[in-house]
Amino acid sequence: MDATIVAMATAMGEASIHILRLSGPQAGNIIDKCFEPHNLKRWTRGDNFTLNLGVFKDESKVLDEVLVGRMLGPFSYTGEDVYEINCHGGTFVAQRILYACIRCGAQLAEPGEFSKRAFLYGKMDLVQAEAVIDLICSRTDTAANLALSQLSGGLSKKIISLRDEILETLAFIEAGIDFPEDDVDSLDREALGGRVTMALINTRLLLEGSKTGKILRDGLLTVIVGRPNVGKSSLLNAILHEERAIVTDVPGTTRDEIRESVSVGGILLKLVDTAGICESQELVERLGIERTWRALETAELILLVVQANDPLTNDEHHILSTYTEKVIVIANKLDLLQNENISFEYENIRLIPFSVLEHRGFEELEDEIRKRVYQGEVIMPSDPLLSNVRQISALERCNNALKQASESITQGMPWDILSIDLREALHCISEITGHNVQESLLEDIFSRFCIGK
Ligand code: GDP
Repeated sequence: MDATIVAMATAMGEASIHILRLSGPQAGNIIDKCFEPHNLKRWTRGDNFTLNLGVFKDESKVLDEVLVGRMLGPFSYTGEDVYEINCHGGTFVAQRILYACIRCGAQLAEPGEFSKRAFLYGKMDLVQAEAVIDLICSRTDTAANLALSQLSGGLSKKIISLRDEILETLAFIEAGIDFPEDDVDSLDREALGGRVTMALINTRLLLEGSKTGKILRDGLLTVIVGRPNVGKSSLLNAILHEERAIVTDVPGTTRDEIRESVSVGGILLKLVDTAGICESQELVERLGIERTWRALETAELILLVVQANDPLTNDEHHILSTYTEKVIVIANKLDLLQNENISFEYENIRLIPFSVLEHRGFEELEDEIRKRVYQGEVIMPSDPLLSNVRQISALERCNNALKQASESITQGMPWDILSIDLREALHCISEITGHNVQESLLEDIFSRFCIGK
């Protein structure tokens, strides 16, 4: 990492300030060439973590009055000497400062390069680095809290402790293979079995939590479905608090899907309002209905809107029996009933009496969604949960290797076979924090970051 890199850390466009970030071995020299501090004495003292007012120049030409933050390595974000230049907003000023830095020897940073350097300097592991991008991209309070808990290292600690458990077990076995005559404890099958089982339990616990973690991070793909005129668009608008979909008493107005995202009870719902399901002769409506059926396949949550106490149609029965696990029934238009006792034959499916018109049922719906996401468990915002697909997939592979190791022990397999399984488990768990990753994987991960991060 010989190069000194520079990038805009804030999005381009008109704003009151822009921040540019400069990091690397030549950062100090470049700043000295371009920056003339008002308080030279203070600047030359070289104090770390200071903000310094002055002018930024390109050769002799003054470009702007700026504030320069000095964060010297190894205490900076990247671990290198970092300078952050706060200049006036607008496209031109920041760009001219950027070019001035490049002319003095800096290179334009790649997306995610600052965070990649932070990782390579050991300032953070991969779980923390990926949490940075999740924090930037979070769309709900809960997702931001989750990313923050990962960034603070809570999750990394759990992963590292699991990795240590596996590493220790492997060390016992390998000592047993290398020095069989020493009667090492490793050859106690029962004790080893216990260790592997413990590691398996901890892996499974993390995997269980990751279901919640993934939803908190990515949201739930939620499809609103039902026959025409039952109140689907009204429900969507009420959840969004805006008139997104057209509401009329003419059946068949929503012919195409409407997609919107909204936070409900801290959970991001990626809502899809669909064309009403019915027998239709009309081509456009029929195509819409076909899409509705396809949307149900991929949905993670289905809100089936029915008319309270109306007999269920065949299509509704079909949805209830096919997608039992992911359906919540919204029995709408409760306000039209004389008697609010609702009969419903599916005991294991939650039905919520509802009236969009009178705003009844929303709290129950929110509670039900939260209950499903948190699987009835109380999860504190600071609980470290795995949420990233790459990390979850590595943990699943680790879990499979541990299962294999456990079976090898029960079947009385030789130690070297067991050692292969545990090595695989170790390899997979190490991938999560980045203890053992290839350059290509790193590139893939950090290229998803924005420039300047
Ligand atoms: P969609 O075709 O399923 O999307 O249904 P809409 O949302 O367009 O609603 C159809 C009609 O039902 C409209 O006239 C709504 O005002 C009415 N509606 C929706 N929800 C309720 C409700 O809870 N009670 C009553 N009485 N009418 C409702």
